[in-house]
Amino acid sequence: MRILFAASEVAPFAKTGGLADVAGSLPRALADLGHDVRVVLPRYRRINPKEHGLRPVASYTVPLASWKERGDVLEGRLDRNVTAYFINKDVYYDRPELYGTMRGDYPDNAERFIFFSRSVPEVCRAVGFSPDIIHCNDWQTGLVPLYCRLFHGQDELLRHAATVFTIHNLGYQGIFWHWDMKLTGLGWDVFTPQGIEYFGNINLMKAGLVYSDALTTVSPTYSREVQTPEYGHGLDGVLLSRSAELTGIVNGIDTAAWAPLHDPALARHYSAEHPAGKKHCTAALRAELGLPEGQVPVAGMVTRLSDQKGLDILTDALPEIMSLGIQLVILGSGDERYHRLLADMCGRYPEQMRVMLKYDDGLARRIYAGADIFLMPSRYEPCGLGQMHALRYGAVPVVRRTGGLADTVAQFNPRKGTGTGFLFDDYSAPALAASLRKAVLVHRKPAQWARLVKNGMGVDFSWKHSAQEYVNVYKAAIEKHKR
Ligand code: ADP
Repeated sequence: MRILFAASEVAPFAKTGGLADVAGSLPRALADLGHDVRVVLPRYRRINPKEHGLRPVASYTVPLASWKERGDVLEGRLDRNVTAYFINKDVYYDRPELYGTMRGDYPDNAERFIFFSRSVPEVCRAVGFSPDIIHCNDWQTGLVPLYCRLFHGQDELLRHAATVFTIHNLGYQGIFWHWDMKLTGLGWDVFTPQGIEYFGNINLMKAGLVYSDALTTVSPTYSREVQTPEYGHGLDGVLLSRSAELTGIVNGIDTAAWAPLHDPALARHYSAEHPAGKKHCTAALRAELGLPEGQVPVAGMVTRLSDQKGLDILTDALPEIMSLGIQLVILGSGDERYHRLLADMCGRYPEQMRVMLKYDDGLARRIYAGADIFLMPSRYEPCGLGQMHALRYGAVPVVRRTGGLADTVAQFNPRKGTGTGFLFDDYSAPALAASLRKAVLVHRKPAQWARLVKNGMGVDFSWKHSAQEYVNVYKAAIEKHKR
């Protein structure tokens, strides 16, 4: 199959969250299955053409409102067998961040990503690639399926292309005021409740949900949750109506890049069979962060600081958590209000708590390796990668039973010695604290704890299985597209 994978961020080129990890690793897993996979993304300022050996290969123009915009295509490689196309357009993408700063989103995000969506099929034409599948991801690519239908249905190169749209996070929909319709080049006939209209605004995610041949979300539990008002962010009705074409496929992780046996960021290397190095990593993390040495467990958190991630129940539970005597380290960046809240909390527990307000991949890895426990009390979690990284690195997850967390963490059963972590149901501070307390009690029994850690480190989170599931979805989408 020929597959074009379109995403607004792709690791290692540009990353703000889990989408980039998926866009960086799923295409390679698909290529390993023998498919011709290419990715397309914007060239942001942080992607240095020289460093990545990018070279210009084509140009195109697209209409935008009443004018035309030119885009240039730079070609590079995601991997030995995956070509990456970068859309070079400095007025839109030559900026310090991808979507906005701490103060808020860039005000022209509609224009930036309408241009990106409009460019995706044009890139195929410009480089002469005729995909069987265009796989779109999140709102930044939401218009691609609609553009393919309306503007490329007769195009020899593109008319066979089926579209698949993946929801990585329904909490971000790309909602813009209706006058931005002008930028889309679409007629008002699609600005309806059955189309891309949403309470008087344009909703780019909704375009992807309505007009693609097949839909996926990044875990089976989340695929059921998004069809309910509690988790549907106002689009549950649309998703319910497409239930038959919606599949939940749990994300894999790049097991070569996330391996405690080889990770260059770590003080010592270790594995499930030879776990001794993990203790050194814990000591090194304490030393790095200036925490006192001791036998108490270290709990870690690596997260975007947003409402989704359960920081409100974490802060409410903090007095009880601290009374357990554990040490808590949090690495995160995001909403300014959480920056202030966490810095304030940290000041109150100088012996037990450290908060690092930044994005730091190396430190994230040292936390996964150094922590005994990993916290993810998310309000909702489409898939979540943090808990999988934690499991690989021998940090036991304490998570809320929602979305992908429910699908990737299994409750520990001390009697049987089965399970990989601790789950709680209620979105509340007492439920989180009670679950963490259970973990701390098991931590006091070294044999049980060692078993629990080993169970987690042994789980196969590679893409092998999930990539095959995507191939099945692609086949169904192609069949649907033919009809
Ligand atoms: P989301 O996509 O909602 O942010 P995921 O758990 O799916 O959450 O993916 C988050 C990814 O980003 C993980 O790889 C995690 O390690 C990484 N990450 C999140 N915040 C930070 C940070 N402040 N510094 C370094 N890595 C981070």
